[in-house]
Amino acid sequence: MTNRQPPRARLTGAAGLFFDFDGTLAGIQEDPETVTPVSGVIPALTALAQRAKVVGIVSARPLSFLAEHFDEVPGLRLSGLYGLESSIAGERFTDPEAAGWEPAIREARERAQEELPGDVRIEDKRLALAIHYRSAPELRSGIEDWVSATAAATGLDVRIGRMVVELVPPVRRDKGSVVRSWCEGLDTAWYFGDDIGDRAAFEALAERQHDNPGFTAVRVAIVNSESEHGLAEQADVVLDAPSAVVGYIEDLLDVSRQG
Ligand SMILES: [Mg+2]
Repeated sequence: MTNRQPPRARLTGAAGLFFDFDGTLAGIQEDPETVTPVSGVIPALTALAQRAKVVGIVSARPLSFLAEHFDEVPGLRLSGLYGLESSIAGERFTDPEAAGWEPAIREARERAQEELPGDVRIEDKRLALAIHYRSAPELRSGIEDWVSATAAATGLDVRIGRMVVELVPPVRRDKGSVVRSWCEGLDTAWYFGDDIGDRAAFEALAERQHDNPGFTAVRVAIVNSESEHGLAEQADVVLDAPSAVVGYIEDLLDVSRQG
């Protein structure tokens, strides 16, 4: 089922559209490595990138993963690890403050491999270490304790996601910092997200709208069976699946073409 709602803003003027990846442009799966964008995402983003001023994806995934799936979309911006790595117009950047934390991430990975049970999945993203417990949700509190202790020992920060806890450089970046910088010069911006980490992006749009009354923000929440964090309450539009995001983009392109 898709709950198609008429878009409340149009692709006029300087528009930007920003997307989370997992749960927003792709379904959630047991093995994060096998996740791919849902059908229709690539052509929809390609059409959008020709019409809007800025189109970008901002994710907890490493940039290399995003590039593998989206390199074929011309002009699409990619931001990985919540903004620690990005690619704009084909040029790649690593946040200089975060780069120095690579050895601490390596140390945390070695500890994790020695100390954590085998049924959690350890993902080394170079500038972040993710501990996935989707296959063993009962381990959650033990993993959170281990992560807090490791953060204290290494100086890394903790970031909590859905069925995942991450150790990250203590550098203040989140999806909100990325969206804030990508909104420069825009009149209208959309952000599509499904998870707790997307709240910062919603807040960045709300702030910009508050500071610039001429700016229109559209916050789109994708809700699913694992949603538990009230993102929908902060949203202007609620969709029920990544396939509905594709429908929303198609409607937006159609409506804006007529308008
Ligand atoms: Mg997500």
